[in-house]
Amino acid sequence: MSSILQADVYVSSRLPIATKRMGQSSSFSPISCTLIHGDTEAVLVDTPISISQTEDLVSWIKETAPGKNLRYVYITHGHGDHWFGITVLRKHWPNLRALATPGTVAHMKEQIKPEVFKGTWLALFPGNQIPQPLELAEAMDVPVFELEGHELCAVEVGHTDTYNTTVLHVPSIRLVVAGDAVYGDMHQFFGEANTTEKRKEWLRALDKIEALDPHTVIAGHKRPGTVDGLFNLQKTRQYILDFEDAVQSASNWKELAADLQRRYPRRVNPHAILRGAMAAFPEGRPSPKV
Ligand SMILES: [Zn+2]
Repeated sequence: MSSILQADVYVSSRLPIATKRMGQSSSFSPISCTLIHGDTEAVLVDTPISISQTEDLVSWIKETAPGKNLRYVYITHGHGDHWFGITVLRKHWPNLRALATPGTVAHMKEQIKPEVFKGTWLALFPGNQIPQPLELAEAMDVPVFELEGHELCAVEVGHTDTYNTTVLHVPSIRLVVAGDAVYGDMHQFFGEANTTEKRKEWLRALDKIEALDPHTVIAGHKRPGTVDGLFNLQKTRQYILDFEDAVQSASNWKELAADLQRRYPRRVNPHAILRGAMAAFPEGRPSPKV
């Protein structure tokens, strides 16, 4: 008889951000890392950013699935906040395979170009917080791998909060680990989904996930304790529609940011609003970028 898979979610701490935004200090959104495990083997989906966060994740994995072999880490998309920890995992599981789609691996390579890595990641998290040297995932030849006889499928969903994003679908337990295609109780990042067309693509990604008919949908950034229900899809969709509506009625980025804050006073990480609002109104443009 084959094993029954189960899944657990680790939610990282919020890493303090070095640069102030609007004169205020802030912290990065918590990051979800999902452990899917059978009788003796396990797969992790995504890692946090820093060495200390990832060491904490390692302790959690060892407590949650004691003695099980971590065979794979699957990376949902190229943003560094979902894979910089691979280097730390490697020290604990030397035979681990880090997997991602070719599109994600291409994005990872962009993230470590000096202008992006220094200009973004080291500016946010200076010193030795981010592990070095960074290890990239290997590009998968086919978008499916197996754990104890169960299929795990990488599903490409296009542009969501960035380009080339995927979700991991585990049909046998009707689970979707959604990366940043789906958000929990966090302000969503629109710094790259900065046009109406890209936001429509994000909505289509949500339709595609819904069509997989999951029972559980795990958001890439979530508040610890939130159940991973289908409402995550509905709330992510509503936030995109509200962002679009707010863009159309605002005449500059400050109005847009204020409107989003008014519509969503309780979501975590209001600082995420700012980059999205600024990206929707690039400098010198009187009207929103549509
Ligand atoms: Zn993210």
